[in-house]
Amino acid sequence: MARVISIANQKGGVGKTTTTVNLGASLAASEQRVLIIDSDPQGNATSSLGFPRDPSRRTLYQAMILGEPIERVTIDAQIDRLELIPSDKNLVGAAVELVAMDNREYRLKEIVNRIREKYDYVLIDCPPSLDLLTLNALAASDSVLVPIQCEYFALEGVSELLDTLMRLRRTINPSLSIEGILLTMYDDRTTLSKQVAADLKSFFGSQVFETIIPRNVRLAEAPSHGMPVMFYDIHSKGAESYIQLSKEVIANAQKRVGAGTERTDPGPGAAAAAAAGATSGSSSVGNAGSGSSSGGSAGADAAPDAPVDTDGEPTPG
Ligand code: ATP
Ligand code: MG
Repeated sequence: MARVISIANQKGGVGKTTTTVNLGASLAASEQRVLIIDSDPQGNATSSLGFPRDPSRRTLYQAMILGEPIERVTIDAQIDRLELIPSDKNLVGAAVELVAMDNREYRLKEIVNRIREKYDYVLIDCPPSLDLLTLNALAASDSVLVPIQCEYFALEGVSELLDTLMRLRRTINPSLSIEGILLTMYDDRTTLSKQVAADLKSFFGSQVFETIIPRNVRLAEAPSHGMPVMFYDIHSKGAESYIQLSKEVIANAQKRVGAGTERTDPGPGAAAAAAAGATSGSSSVGNAGSGSSSGGSAGADAAPDAPVDTDGEPTPG
């Protein structure tokens, strides 16, 4: 039975797609049967896996809106044990058409439940919004993995997302848990990155994955070659970090089986409260600093580094 994980954060450009594709490929390399569902009309997961735009290709749209059999929209991602339900810009229509449909939050869940037996992991790449596509993904999921970029404004929108998760647990998906919060684009040369990482860890505690994804140019280059980073440069820091993340995800799943229960995290409620507290003082995360033990000086300490020089990449590999 597959574990279904949504990769979600309504903030754009935080590493959702990079995480979906590279975690998916790393899990597949660890003998797991993986399905990636591209639920973003931008289709970035689809193109990152080497499928350029093609109007004749069936996508999630046909399955969700037109009710075509899922087998007809699932494609072999040309990597052992990895399959893909692609997306393209027509999926924008789905977000609109769903509004008037019966069972509009559960269309994806119905699809996913029919194919759970075939996979060990189903990863759903969500768009940068909290629209019906994202709600469908979260309704269909066992858990949500939230990538957060280690940058100024890191927490912006996180409390809104966690509020939404809390509401979803009361309504359309009571069993939704947090798979983990993943720190991405970490740059160990900047005080700001270190500070944001430390502060996020102090807010979210054990819900933060131990694996931290570094800013690594290979991760940014691999999509243009249509392949996950581990096939582009296996020795890169980016590839190593996603392999490590896949091990952590598998280990967490084994722990849950061992305990015979879902992970007993305090749930989105506690995290939302923390995030709300974190963002209440001021609206940015410099506000990450305001919640830390350093009593708000962190934001000020970090300030000289900002804005981060995001062009400066660590030496590749
Ligand atoms: P969107 O919200 O638009 O869907 P996203 O959250 O899916 O964006 P990505 O597309 O994964 O974010 O990443 C945004 C950009 O940053 C991409 O160009 C990607 O290649 C690059 N990127 C992601 N993670 C890293 C990283 N760890 N190091 C360097 N570049 C990265
Ligand atoms: Mg994306």
